[in-house]
Amino acid sequence: MSDIVDEIRTAYAPLGIELEAPTTYGTYYRLRCARCGAMVGSVGDKLLPGMSKELVQEQQFDLYAAGLLGCACGYQAERASAIDPVRAEGARKRLA
Ligand SMILES: [Zn+2]
Repeated sequence: MSDIVDEIRTAYAPLGIELEAPTTYGTYYRLRCARCGAMVGSVGDKLLPGMSKELVQEQQFDLYAAGLLGCACGYQAERASAIDPVRAEGARKRLA
């Protein structure tokens, strides 16, 4: 497991998303909901150091909080609310 994949895994973990082992394509990893196991997307390992945390926890945070990204079971929105309730509530009002 490369450093960048560890970093990507660490970036997604707080939002309740797990990385699966690489697909046969090699450089893409499936993303699964940490609660129900549903597939919620995929991510490539070509991100640069520092990029995945910025991407997931800053740029995509509002989308997860509002339920526009993430699993239909709502786990990522719940995680976002637990991490930053004020920002998550603002995102829901603005986007939902
Ligand atoms: Zn789920």
